[in-house]
Amino acid sequence: MTGVSLGHAAATDIGSRRANEDAYLMDPPLFAVADGMGGHVAGEVASRTALSVLAQEVKNDSAALLAATREANRQVHEKAGADLNLAGMGTTMTAFLAAASSAQIVHVGDSRAYLLRGGRLTRLTEDHTLANRLVRQGRIRPDEADRHPQRSVLERALGVNAAIEVDVQNIDVRPGDRFLLCTDGLTSVLVDEQIQEILLAEADPQAASHRLVSEVVEEGGEDNVTAVIVDYPGRREGAPSVEGSVWIPTPTPPPVPETAPPSPSARPSRGRRRALWLASSMGILLLLALAARMALGAAWYVGDDEGRVAVFQGIPGSLAGIRLNSVAARTDIPTDSLTEVYQRRLREGMPVKDRTQAESFIREIGELQQAPSLPEATSSPQAGPKPPASPTVGKKP
Ligand code: MN
Repeated sequence: MTGVSLGHAAATDIGSRRANEDAYLMDPPLFAVADGMGGHVAGEVASRTALSVLAQEVKNDSAALLAATREANRQVHEKAGADLNLAGMGTTMTAFLAAASSAQIVHVGDSRAYLLRGGRLTRLTEDHTLANRLVRQGRIRPDEADRHPQRSVLERALGVNAAIEVDVQNIDVRPGDRFLLCTDGLTSVLVDEQIQEILLAEADPQAASHRLVSEVVEEGGEDNVTAVIVDYPGRREGAPSVEGSVWIPTPTPPPVPETAPPSPSARPSRGRRRALWLASSMGILLLLALAARMALGAAWYVGDDEGRVAVFQGIPGSLAGIRLNSVAARTDIPTDSLTEVYQRRLREGMPVKDRTQAESFIREIGELQQAPSLPEATSSPQAGPKPPASPTVGKKP
């Protein structure tokens, strides 16, 4: 136990998306947000799985938070590998474990933790995005990063690879400190000054979290948006206590390929049984092949094709000798002209949401090359025309 009673509250909104792939966890002293990615239901599965594992594994012991995060990564990655519908899924995760006079934050991806102290808002986490890399390299200004087309291209996400690099920090807490955990749906619409203003204006965590989310909705935020607030006792008093809970978005049943053979009503003759058996096993194969094709058609990644950067449709690797991907577009960017980090990620395959995101990502890595070269994707027969100059990626334009 922390020995302190923390005020806390959360709010979320689906935005204009088909599903809410954000998830949050309020299980004092543990709090977290996660923003899932992947086709169909995969994003929801990834964020929910990660937070469920986190809640199970963390037993009020700050030493366990990092281990729990690694376990969450392992389980999301395992699920993604076991089901074609979930292939390539991943999630951001920013988690906060409170103690009496300190707190620990673990973080992967582009969700964020903020601290409001002495009336000033400070960002505690660093986005693991391509846009943030461009900021660190001085190519774009920090205030441009949150509106950048590539702001949601993640360089790190939980569940995508077997190994994961996690940012961990320990913070000395002071009375009255207010912490905010949020997904990028919030920070791609509201600037830090607006967030600070709302957190200062609304003393009650419930009111503050709801106002943050509703202002994003009012401004037309398209992405899922989630905010979790944790208040240490101090100047803020009388904060309502909410029972610990894992929030689960509107459930969508995963599409399950129909594999049950037809059940004949009357007992058929041997010849007919044979014919039925053949028909049903062929039907199963056909349905499985169709399910695989559907899953693969929806998945995209950027990877290496014979030493050059390429856009792939499908997932990396092969199954029973059958390649699970095809090259959708090739570039003339040599993979080994990029930094070590990118070379490794490209050889593993970097999942992206769709073709548009793949192409804008390639434009960026083209610019990151040591020697300048043509960053544009050369079209393959199925590639079609080039995308417009200003790509719309992921979340909000
Ligand atoms: Mn998001």
